[in-house]
Amino acid sequence: MGLLTGKTGLVVGVANDRSIAWGIARALHAEGADLGFTYPVPAIEERVRPLATSLGSRFVEPCDVTRDGDIDALFAKVREVFGHLDILVHAVAFANKEDLKEPYVSTSREGFRIALDVSAYSLVALARGAAPLMTGRNGSIVTMTYYGAEKVMPGYNVMGVAKAALEASVKYLAHDLGPQGIRVNAISAGPIRTLAAAGISGFKSMLHHAEEKAPLRRNVSTEEVGKTALYLLSDLASGVTGEIVYVDAGYHVMGA
Ligand code: NAD
Repeated sequence: MGLLTGKTGLVVGVANDRSIAWGIARALHAEGADLGFTYPVPAIEERVRPLATSLGSRFVEPCDVTRDGDIDALFAKVREVFGHLDILVHAVAFANKEDLKEPYVSTSREGFRIALDVSAYSLVALARGAAPLMTGRNGSIVTMTYYGAEKVMPGYNVMGVAKAALEASVKYLAHDLGPQGIRVNAISAGPIRTLAAAGISGFKSMLHHAEEKAPLRRNVSTEEVGKTALYLLSDLASGVTGEIVYVDAGYHVMGA
């Protein structure tokens, strides 16, 4: 019997087999979770569907997290197919390319709105949809953040500001949903080569810098993020909520 046998999870944010959400999904599946997946546009559905099938998933539904109608339809479908939910994985972020290249001071009002909407507000909207399905089940929610929320990472720009809002949201959501037994935590991962990361200018040097300076003198993998997500999403972390847990080879402890 696995740590998550009998548990149902929804994973939002798989784009391909390099996605952090995919590393998490595999870790959850290995411990017995029954998983559902989403995709924002048909081009991504083509990649997500075979991955979901490879984990025996019967649930692959559309959801653009900027659309309330999509979110409502998604949770109606979860209720219809699974009847309840124990786990929500939120691994979604987006900012316009120019806002990850030009100096932060030149971020447009619209660019700011989009980055905050997709990368931070979406956690609030998804948590609101998931909560009624988690009642009485000790639900657990995990989102993905980055150290650029706390310290300046040149090039991370508006995404750092969105991650700061996301991390604050984790704490406010933990407070709101705690009385229902629902835990909300974030994993702050070190840089990993993914589709989203490819849009960040200077990402290669972030990888190199982390490898050189982190106590473990290396970068982390999606498997390692998956193992920490498994801990946070299982009963092993039953007393943990509102936390930002680092999976960054120790990079954040360094001062020089
Ligand atoms: P990824 O490109 O594999 O995943 C990003 C996901 O966001 C994709 O699946 C994409 O479809 C989804 N997405 C974007 N806009 C959406 C929308 N409107 N509706 C629904 N989904 C939408 O990249 P990733 O690196 O695995 O990113 C996952 C999370 O991890 C993000 O929050 C990212 O900021 C975070 N993170 C990444 C790193 C890294 O170095 N790769 C480090 C720390 C945190």
